[in-house]
Amino acid sequence: MTTNTKENFGELLLDKKIVTALTDMGFEEPSPIQRETIPFVLEGNDVIGQAQTGTGKTAAFGIPIIQNIADSRHIQALIMTPTRELAIQVAEEVGKIGRTSRIKALPVYGGQPIDRQIRALKSGVQIVIGTPGRLLDHLHRGTIKLDGIRFLVVDEADEMLDMGFIEDMEEIMKNLPVERQTLLFSATMPRPILSLTKKYMKAPKVVAIHKEVVTAPSVDQFYYETKDKVDGLSRLLDVEINGKLIIFCRTKKGVDELVIALGTRGYLAEGLHGDLSQNQRDRVMKKFRAGRVDILIATDVAARGLDIENITHVVNFDIPQDPESYVHRIGRTGRAGNKGVALTFITPREFRQLKLIERAVNIKIIRRQLPTDANVLEKQREIIVSKLQSVLDQNNYGEYLSIISTLTKDYSVEDVAAAAVKLMQEGSKALEISSETRVMPSDFTNTGARPGMVRMFMNIGRSQKITVKDIIQTIAIEADIPGKVIGTINIYDKFTFVEIPEDVAEKVLAVMHKNTIKGYKVNVEPARARD
Ligand code: ADP
Ligand code: MG
Repeated sequence: MTTNTKENFGELLLDKKIVTALTDMGFEEPSPIQRETIPFVLEGNDVIGQAQTGTGKTAAFGIPIIQNIADSRHIQALIMTPTRELAIQVAEEVGKIGRTSRIKALPVYGGQPIDRQIRALKSGVQIVIGTPGRLLDHLHRGTIKLDGIRFLVVDEADEMLDMGFIEDMEEIMKNLPVERQTLLFSATMPRPILSLTKKYMKAPKVVAIHKEVVTAPSVDQFYYETKDKVDGLSRLLDVEINGKLIIFCRTKKGVDELVIALGTRGYLAEGLHGDLSQNQRDRVMKKFRAGRVDILIATDVAARGLDIENITHVVNFDIPQDPESYVHRIGRTGRAGNKGVALTFITPREFRQLKLIERAVNIKIIRRQLPTDANVLEKQREIIVSKLQSVLDQNNYGEYLSIISTLTKDYSVEDVAAAAVKLMQEGSKALEISSETRVMPSDFTNTGARPGMVRMFMNIGRSQKITVKDIIQTIAIEADIPGKVIGTINIYDKFTFVEIPEDVAEKVLAVMHKNTIKGYKVNVEPARARD
């Protein structure tokens, strides 16, 4: 519908070049925040724009800035973002909008060699996007010249505040030419932000887009009432949830604990919160974006502003504290015409809070029952059946047929097949006769370990700078076994999986119990299965 595009963005009196770039980006019409702020910026006003995450705030300032940038190669706009991740994201989006106008946008952030940035700056960019710290650094070095700056943008201002950047922001603002436009965008407007705007903005136009615009009708919303949320979540992961999800917790500690709780149950999840270094955040986001982990566990603050595609489910592991944050969270899914699902856990005492959210947002969150043991079993059966079907369809298991004909001399075909499925499903547990051992054999089944090996879970990982060598050495010495018998070791941020030969598993568990690796106390336990 290109004609429509032209009409709509055309109504905003944009250059043809910019409209072409927007069409290439797949934008069909301006979003509400864009429709309202772009004319104000083009007329030369300062603007305060408030709208939820995912409503297109980047283009709301990016489009009019690009349109007003002069055809010269000096820096004319400075955009401050709270994190490096966002600086990169904003630079990408602004770069795309400016592509046809040949306007260059460069992200600068800590952690990247400053020399390289200085060279890139010299090559001629008109828009610089960065975290306040690194921007200040460049200002002090004189590698970013302020006199040509005509636009300052404070993006995700509320998060900037949460991250303690207010002084850096002020220092930058104080040093900019007075003849400039200041644009401030935020999902929420806490008081300190407002006082900042009073101090540094000139008669700003205020545009606030309210939440009903965001409550995506394409998000199905359900809630579950349970006292054991981890168990409930595991059941959902086994039976219902099949896709890419963000799980929200109320606190950083909650995030860490849930990463570990899911890890011990065999689900791979990554946590995201304010205590992580920028590098750690980048790594987590990269993995999640690339689909190497499907579960991201985050606090509201850490997830704010991040634009991640194809989220199929949002899980409120902890019920959000206010209706606004509920809307924010669920707005992460159901984007771009896809259907999303939002699942909220409540404990019996949180029922009133749920009703409060329903009323404030004017939606109905439907009650649902958690999958039962029978559902979980049923799902496992379905998985077994579909795995077997796909092997049968490939029809390339001829080498095993002679085993079957040997066995069918003494057993029926049904019995042989059932035994084979049991072995496939339960692994070594299927071979156990007695279970009088301290280590419950059922704990050792089906955890992805190779035959003859069991997988162990340890509650330390990369965060403690643990290496494969540390683990092998400690276990080998403590359990008095040769290091080379230890199998695959997977080290994650907060935990590690180690394969140990079955016959020494118990011994390793016994000696490692309450032991230390590199001075860190470890807890070692058998890993549990995902499917
Ligand atoms: P916010 O800053 O409000 O959280 P973003 O600027 O990150 O939102 O935009 C969210 C997503 O929506 C991005 O992928 C962006 O490319 C897309 N987007 C923005 N404006 C439009 C539009 N007018 N039409 C279609 N998609 C858009
Ligand atoms: Mg944004």
